[in-house]
Amino acid sequence: MSKILVIGAGGVGSVAVHKMAFNSDIFGRISLASRTKSKCDAIAASVMTRCGVDIDTYALDADDVPAATALLNQIKPALVVNLALPYQDLNIMEACLAAGVHYMDTANYEPLDVAKFEYHWQWAYQDRFREAGLTALLGSGFDPGVTSVFTTYLKKHHFDQIDTLDILDCNGGDHGQAFATNFNPEINIREVTAVVRHWENGDWVETPPMSVKQSFDFEAVGTKNMYLMYHEEIESLKTHLPEIKRIRFWMTFGDEYIKHLTVLQNVGMTRIDPVIYEGKEIIPLQFLKAVLPEPASLGPTTKGKTNIGCIATGLGKDGTEKTLYIYNICDHEDAYAETGNQAVSYTTGVPAMIGAAMLLTGKWAGAGVWNIEQFDPDPFMEMLNQHGLPWQVKELDGALKF
Ligand code: NDP
Repeated sequence: MSKILVIGAGGVGSVAVHKMAFNSDIFGRISLASRTKSKCDAIAASVMTRCGVDIDTYALDADDVPAATALLNQIKPALVVNLALPYQDLNIMEACLAAGVHYMDTANYEPLDVAKFEYHWQWAYQDRFREAGLTALLGSGFDPGVTSVFTTYLKKHHFDQIDTLDILDCNGGDHGQAFATNFNPEINIREVTAVVRHWENGDWVETPPMSVKQSFDFEAVGTKNMYLMYHEEIESLKTHLPEIKRIRFWMTFGDEYIKHLTVLQNVGMTRIDPVIYEGKEIIPLQFLKAVLPEPASLGPTTKGKTNIGCIATGLGKDGTEKTLYIYNICDHEDAYAETGNQAVSYTTGVPAMIGAAMLLTGKWAGAGVWNIEQFDPDPFMEMLNQHGLPWQVKELDGALKF
């Protein structure tokens, strides 16, 4: 049993800490630190009620590297699980190097002032982690995370070669609000309004945000409109599985969401550059986040299911061309009943717990900076089935028509 420190007491942090506490044979002493200690205390109280496990809580601004290093030296965890925001990634990696602790996250680093989702900032830590004999595991959420592991699982067990990969992310949940985001609104809106890129024949293809739409019939959800988007796992998957000729990412959005987002964009509320308001600099998107519902508050009202997975085409191990669909369906109300959080937090927090378990049990090991698809998918896939995110593989009649 090992000591673990989770940083970030949002919806994802809450699910991960609950799941770690439910698996106390793997996770020994659990500590939770975040900017607002009262949020950590609320999660600790819920964990105590649900399973009787005591969590240590701390106030921490993770951007303060000396303070984060001091906390690591005090707690001496085997691993830090970073579930704060992407802006903190590099500072927490620095603290891990200073204190000699392994690192893990679910989202790649983003600079505050420009919405760029690229791995090069974190990949630049490769030599320092390797020389320190430490592991940094990047992207152990659902997407990136499970979808990347789904891809390597298909490659290992079903395909000699994958030619095309489509990642389909459907949230069929209804939270009853006119407009709200299911994870951090600032990060969500930066992602959705970014220029779209997908990978095709060795190059990036760019299209304007939300300009390519298709509909798809998702099991347990129904037919939904989904939009082509850029997502960070495209960059790591095309690097680690260079045989794949085309990689695309799709996410579903309802008409109401699109309508509100369009208006917010048109009036300038999604801007991330500072504007002067009453003599003070404010970032419109950060102000918007402050007036939108907290994702964690949507849990009690959200109904419906998520369905997230990958469709791959290529040459099967039996020598024939095939199209396989691998996916998970997760129910918002079941997720809430188990952990007090809706399914978008659940589908991210559970793989965060599993990634941490892979490192703590030594099933995944190695000095350096790793993306999740670089490890053996099998033990991770087994734990998904055991811990609330069961998956299935289905053969489709043919490739997607679009
Ligand atoms: P939330 O906004 O709900 O939670 C983030 C938490 O981090 C908050 O409690 C916040 O504290 C804390 N935090 C922010 N800045 C700091 C800081 N400087 N120091 C310490 N704590 C800080 O976000 P989510 O839980 O929805 O998302 C968490 C992470 O998971 C994000 O990085 C997100 O991008 C990622 N994610 C990944 C997904 C995947 O599939 N891979 C899917 C969904 C999310 P406070 O409340 O006090 O400000």
